[in-house]
Amino acid sequence: MLSEFDLIAQYFTRPARDTRRIALGVGDDCALIAPSPGTQLAVSTDMLVEGRHFFPDADPFQLGHKCLAVNLSDLAAMGARPLGFTLALALPDSRAEWLAPFSQGLLALADLHGCALIGGDTTKGPRNICITVFGEVAPGQALRRDRAQAGDDIWISGTLGEARLALAGYRNELALDAAALQAAGQRMHAPTPRVALGLALCGLAHAAIDISDGLVGDLGHVLKRSQVGATLDADALPIGPMLSLQPQDLRRRFALAGGDDYELCFTAPPSRRAEVLDAARAAGTAVTRVGRIDAAPGLRLVDGNGVPLRLQLSSFDHFASS
Ligand code: ADP
Ligand code: MG
Repeated sequence: MLSEFDLIAQYFTRPARDTRRIALGVGDDCALIAPSPGTQLAVSTDMLVEGRHFFPDADPFQLGHKCLAVNLSDLAAMGARPLGFTLALALPDSRAEWLAPFSQGLLALADLHGCALIGGDTTKGPRNICITVFGEVAPGQALRRDRAQAGDDIWISGTLGEARLALAGYRNELALDAAALQAAGQRMHAPTPRVALGLALCGLAHAAIDISDGLVGDLGHVLKRSQVGATLDADALPIGPMLSLQPQDLRRRFALAGGDDYELCFTAPPSRRAEVLDAARAAGTAVTRVGRIDAAPGLRLVDGNGVPLRLQLSSFDHFASS
């Protein structure tokens, strides 16, 4: 069995890369971060608990990727540039068969985003993975939830609903063929944080949130905080290729209230549509316009012809007022 310190040294300590931003990493009582002068520090924490957020037999490489991805997604939704992260780990044992692929999946995504592992805590216990990310953003540029304005377009990055489709497949709620389950499972296990898009939207979007609990619920947070309402076109929602093969009712449900999408939902004035599309192109992430922000509170769902829809969505009822 590895000691706690051997384990940290072996799997979670690497030579510093960006010594300009990370003045001191793993190994001391604290890490030292040097954000660019004049920027604000953006900080977010997300915890993944075995049995609740991931299956006990989850692939450790994918799990390493996912637990950092969901944290980077929060930085993306704020328009912040990643600097570094800490990792608090409770582990039942120190088996290399789990630790090696876990740290590889984690650090591969960290390298992709120039986001260094700068510290953490390690203890024995039921498997629990808690990451805190640190990023930087220019003052006044952060994409906050409370800045949506009546008349704004509502945009979504990428596609929605396939993580939920995979869950339905795993639970045998739906019969999916192996290829469909594999493709949808990829969306569930290996989400792509939209960091470049978040950065490109700074100074352009009014408000943003990342979709972790389903579009309707998460957009609801933006509406509430911004004291506005919205109309969403259910037929305009970007649907992934595997979900596109499913019946309309299921497509709509999974896209509106699926969860685990980790796409960005953001609002921007219609006068800036061309700039939004340019920003998305530059970031290499497709975006789709799916509705508009209204002055009247509540969330209205319509079809492509503007006809109101009445869908019973668990997270939807909570926010509907019309
Ligand atoms: P302390 O006694 O101050 O809590 P620890 O002995 O827990 O410090 O940790 C020693 C060093 O290793 C610290 O710099 C800490 O940030 C780092 N560390 C501990 N666990 C991890 C981990 N899972 N990943 C990265 N760094 C870690
Ligand atoms: Mg400690």
